[in-house]
Amino acid sequence: MSNSIKQAEIWFITGSQHLYGDEILKKVANHSATIVKSLKQEEVIPVKIVFKQVLTSPEEIYNLCVDASSSKNCIGIIAWMHTFSPAKMWINGLKILHKPLLHFHTQFNRDIPWNDIDMDFMNLNQSAHGDREFGFIISRMRINRTVVTGHWQNKNTVGQIAEWTRAAIGWHDWQGAKFVRFGDNMRYVAVTDGDKVEAEIKFGYSVNTYGIGDLVGYVNNVKETAITKLCDDYALLYSLSPALKKGNPQHQSLREAAKIEIGLRKFLTDGNYKGFTDTFEDLHGIMQLPGIAAQRLMQDGFGFSAEGDWKTAALVRAMKTMATGLPGGNAFMEDYTYHFESGNEMVLGSHMLEICSSIADGKPTCEIHPLGIGGKADPVRLVFNVKSGKALNASVIDMGNRFRMLINEVDAIKPPQKLPKLPVARVLWKPLPDMQTGCSAWILAGGAHHTCYSQNLSTNTLQIFAEMAGIECITINKETTIQQLKNELKWNEMLYK
Ligand code: MN
Repeated sequence: MSNSIKQAEIWFITGSQHLYGDEILKKVANHSATIVKSLKQEEVIPVKIVFKQVLTSPEEIYNLCVDASSSKNCIGIIAWMHTFSPAKMWINGLKILHKPLLHFHTQFNRDIPWNDIDMDFMNLNQSAHGDREFGFIISRMRINRTVVTGHWQNKNTVGQIAEWTRAAIGWHDWQGAKFVRFGDNMRYVAVTDGDKVEAEIKFGYSVNTYGIGDLVGYVNNVKETAITKLCDDYALLYSLSPALKKGNPQHQSLREAAKIEIGLRKFLTDGNYKGFTDTFEDLHGIMQLPGIAAQRLMQDGFGFSAEGDWKTAALVRAMKTMATGLPGGNAFMEDYTYHFESGNEMVLGSHMLEICSSIADGKPTCEIHPLGIGGKADPVRLVFNVKSGKALNASVIDMGNRFRMLINEVDAIKPPQKLPKLPVARVLWKPLPDMQTGCSAWILAGGAHHTCYSQNLSTNTLQIFAEMAGIECITINKETTIQQLKNELKWNEMLYK
């Protein structure tokens, strides 16, 4: 877990007003503290929840929003109106709040106390209408937020808070994040290109270019002892092809790969970069296309995408951050090849080399094969299969006047055969709702061939993330029909005009 996630806080605030008097307000504060205490004990919520005061005036609300917006550790606000909190009091605060907002529509008492309910109970447990007043002003101000409804001890409710929290982690991580691009875009490719200035305005991360020579400087400075040490690690962690082992003819290539990894890692760490892109068309002075280096750097949390695709590199990083602590992984991915057997259609996802080993099923093999593109030395790569189970692919594209996120839920399946001659990591999946609809929908929505493949993030988390970013989000899942998707795309076109 990175330091910034360890220090991350969600602030829990409760709205009320002075009318109720001190005794009720004390109860409100106690109840809020009880809820926070309970949420803190929920292991599914990956960050600290901090109890803040009960807010009863426009000044208190404004000051809290100023503090939250400027706090380095506050990554989001959970707001709850236990009692009624006249919402004009919230306008000035909400206007300057720059952190994601979750409106928690809960009630302290789960049940109506049938035999004892009186007006005192009614005047305390008012969120049914207090939260409606709060909801109105946020809708009136057109502020994006997530609403979670349910009792605070309900596991499903807590799970939804956890998903929002994960989206907030990813969003927080992007603010001020730096991504480095070695070289430019793969020549003539459209979808990997885009407006980096608009992305920085919208998403908060910057993408800047370095000549590959700057990286070569780092790689050439790597010490022989460090290379030997990393090659020993490779031999421990992976099943090395015999040719790559010490004393064998291609061991020098393994050393070259290790040297690239060490140089890249130092470049990224020194520059405080959260991810990178490269392109096989611009590798002057680098002997091999970074394969195992990209795979392992991704596994350690760096964002990566190939061919200059900075949007996917940033997305891979965000998704890894959002998934902190969850079993399973997130990897750069490409829809590569189809299996069109009737009734058993599926996609083979892979890349030339760079699939993140966080999704490997079992111990990867470490192999060397020619690349057949780019004209460099044979690159070393990790080869593995990926577990079956629910997963998704996500992509962000630049539509010219807006960014669009696409999500396609898929069912990953175990490879039905061995694929003995395929020299790259691969995943097989069946897109939802079915191959024909899923792929047609993706193409109609303009989804990229590059994605981030996730084994552990939910569609809901990514939808919330897109909402935090204020971008369009298209989901392709078991509910999708082509007709409905076409309409959604048309209507969205109007929305963003
Ligand atoms: Mn590619």
